[in-house]
Amino acid sequence: MPIYIHNTLSRKNEEFVPQLPPKVSIYSCGVTVYDESHIGHARSLYIFDLIRRYLRYSGYEVTLVRNITDVEDKIINRANALGIPWNELVEKVTRSYYEDMAALAIEKADVEPKATENIPGIIEAIRTLIEKGFAYVSVSGVYYNVRKFPGYGKLSGQSIEDMQSGGEPEEGKKDVLDFALWKTAKPGEPSWPSPWGEGRPGWHIECSMMSMKYLKSETIDIHGGGRDLIFPHHENEIAQSEALTGKPFAKYWIHHGLLTIDGSKMSKSVGNYVTIKDFLQKYTHPEILKLFFLSAHYSHPVDYNAAKITEARQALARIAILAKKILSYGAPGAGLRYSFDDICRIKDEFIGAMNDDFNTPRALAAVFDLVNVANKNISDEKFIADAGVLLWELTGLLGLDIEKLAAEISSSGSSALEGGEDIESLVAQRAEAKKQRNFAEADRIRKELEAKGIILEDSRGGTTWRKKL
Ligand SMILES: [Zn+2]
Repeated sequence: MPIYIHNTLSRKNEEFVPQLPPKVSIYSCGVTVYDESHIGHARSLYIFDLIRRYLRYSGYEVTLVRNITDVEDKIINRANALGIPWNELVEKVTRSYYEDMAALAIEKADVEPKATENIPGIIEAIRTLIEKGFAYVSVSGVYYNVRKFPGYGKLSGQSIEDMQSGGEPEEGKKDVLDFALWKTAKPGEPSWPSPWGEGRPGWHIECSMMSMKYLKSETIDIHGGGRDLIFPHHENEIAQSEALTGKPFAKYWIHHGLLTIDGSKMSKSVGNYVTIKDFLQKYTHPEILKLFFLSAHYSHPVDYNAAKITEARQALARIAILAKKILSYGAPGAGLRYSFDDICRIKDEFIGAMNDDFNTPRALAAVFDLVNVANKNISDEKFIADAGVLLWELTGLLGLDIEKLAAEISSSGSSALEGGEDIESLVAQRAEAKKQRNFAEADRIRKELEAKGIILEDSRGGTTWRKKL
């Protein structure tokens, strides 16, 4: 079954045909390390991790490159504000970024290059752009002359005339739309020697150069990032790269929607700013955040709010409760026996949804369909064996560690997943009462919990509980 991807460049859903199957090359624009990563970054990291996982699952050999921008105006300004050297800030924030990736259980990219480790290659690319007449040297650096590139605006769907804001160009620029390839250093700024004096590369040229270098191709299969990067960042990457090589830069452009918090853009000054560490401190499980992300199509904007997170947490608890019941029969084996129509149908639905431009809300609906049919057939050992195989396969693909979550259901830690506090101790008291054959007391505790909206479920593995949905 072919995979269809919405290509920002053509504005169409296109059948995915990589250049050299089964190989697939993906470049995703990474973070600028000047501050703690927030949940908007987590969405981007998770989406491209998921796309990589799904393409691998579909039989492709994927190479994902995600850069780290480690020299940039924001870094310099923030280091100055904090009164620390810029490279000290970069080191601290990069370390924290990798802690977050590990805590979210998001696999690293295959290559994670840094701009500062690629200065000679970037200088070489700029030199070629000057030689080819696409760039010019000025007092403040080297600029790309956008009017020299006929396709400028093709990704964002604008013409140069549309983009003209009419203002005066800054010092050193011939045209307001021209952008910096190399910035001459001001006193005290980080700098490297170049044919145009001490300076640092512009942000756009870093991504052009590193994507072609590390994916070893002048045309890459997939280039992606947030919608906010379409213009000017990705538009400029196309202009630079295609001027350098004369070839299409990327075959498919994938852009994900942005994240708002309580209806507005994330902003520290407004106070609606949630870092990855803030989220994990409050909700413990990265799976809750992942389930929230899955509930919206990657290309759509999402709004993060307490109600949505509660919904995601409860939905995740349903999966974990089922996983716990399945585990009471023993760990699922490998490979479906495909002896049940329902199981085959659900797997087909999941794959059909993912093949349709990674439609995770529909894929997730298939997972919950599986949860429902498995719960209905929970006493059918053969059915549960197959349901278990498929549940493990699909949740594993989505990066949800359900064995860890199932263990949580039986231990006192379930408060993080289900919001329970004293429930565990009541469940333990009831188990003790049953053991003492004090059924009246066991029943009383069950009713007490029921009044609190807690449903107990007895299975071979003991008693689990969940909130009434
Ligand atoms: Zn980039």
